[in-house]
Amino acid sequence: MNRLIILSFLSLFIRGNEISFDEIQVMGNGEISINFNLNKVSLIKSYSLESPSRVVMEVNQANLVSNINVPYNYPVKKVRASQDGSLSRIVIDLYEPVHWQNPIQTIDTENIKLELKIKRNKKLNESIRDIIVAIDAGHGGKYPGAVGPNNILEKDVTLLIAKELERTLRDTYGYKPIMIRDGDETLGLNDRYQDARKYGADIFVSIHADGFRLSSVKGASVFIWSDEASSTVARNLSEKQRKRIQADIKNLKPVDFDEDAARTLYPEMYEIKISESKILGTKILDQLKRDPFTKIHKKNVEYADFRVLKSIDIPSVLVESGFITNPEDAQRLKGKPGRRMIARSVFLGIHNYFKDQPKANTFMSIDPGYVTYKIQKGDVLSEIAIRFGVTAEEINIKNKLNNKPIYPGQLIKINI
Ligand SMILES: [Zn+2]
Repeated sequence: MNRLIILSFLSLFIRGNEISFDEIQVMGNGEISINFNLNKVSLIKSYSLESPSRVVMEVNQANLVSNINVPYNYPVKKVRASQDGSLSRIVIDLYEPVHWQNPIQTIDTENIKLELKIKRNKKLNESIRDIIVAIDAGHGGKYPGAVGPNNILEKDVTLLIAKELERTLRDTYGYKPIMIRDGDETLGLNDRYQDARKYGADIFVSIHADGFRLSSVKGASVFIWSDEASSTVARNLSEKQRKRIQADIKNLKPVDFDEDAARTLYPEMYEIKISESKILGTKILDQLKRDPFTKIHKKNVEYADFRVLKSIDIPSVLVESGFITNPEDAQRLKGKPGRRMIARSVFLGIHNYFKDQPKANTFMSIDPGYVTYKIQKGDVLSEIAIRFGVTAEEINIKNKLNNKPIYPGQLIKINI
């Protein structure tokens, strides 16, 4: 085993990770926030079960400081926990099914605050949660990324595409987008995948617009983490890769989650993540191929050692929306219609991914065959149709709109 990996693996145990109950708060919007303290950002699996209703959080590599047994008010019956080897299992016993969210981890001074939010919803027959999509707009702040004709900057293009994607996901029932950056901020590569974990992301999508010395090179492509570059087998690592891993580990904050060490601990989880990333990437690429505006650079999902994709369990893809150094691509990405098509392909790719392999406890596991979109102020039917890859007429018929004007807050069904 790689010495570096062993060292980082040991440091995980030396510091130890303890979990303790903090408090339960009722928020203004009726949400109930159940809080715990941790020493480190942790690998957490959460799910809900019925008969009786409960939400479970399994926190890996964590130890309970003391027994947790906290009775509470409706709809929470009790918060309890047990230790199973190095895994702490926290159970929220409920009186009825709830709408819950994947737990969020935030840095609170030296510690991590772990928060699980639930909300009552009388309509539910079983507990359900939103699908969390981490959207990573490449570069930002002092890193402009590639520069195209007329000083068009990759960091601006990626943010605009990311915002377009965010908009569609935000207003579509069952999805919750998380923007890794939503302004012109400078973010390190480690911060990006660390944030995806902190937000409880189901998938991570990084948006880029590449540059190349030859301006003739053009088209979109999709990448996933390279197995070879990230192999835990030391002899497969080149000297350069070894140095990079070393630098990565050094850059981690004490509270950060060490993805490299985790790959050694949970190899099966990592294998699944790689194959899931490939499926997700292929779904997105399939949509890009259908987009009449976008040319494809490589017809298959490619592998690269992009560090932002290194999470061990969150399927992660990087979409190069084109080459900003190519005049044709730059023109396409400069305009809203071109960027919208990229966002649409990514959205439809994501949706098809979850449709094909529904995640338990999400709205996809009870897929009605359509998505529900909430009309926003300023929305136009023809524009919504473009964003979902359907025609305005199809939406009109499906919702029996009879060409009547749409209004903010209206719920429409879209067959995709
Ligand atoms: Zn880039």
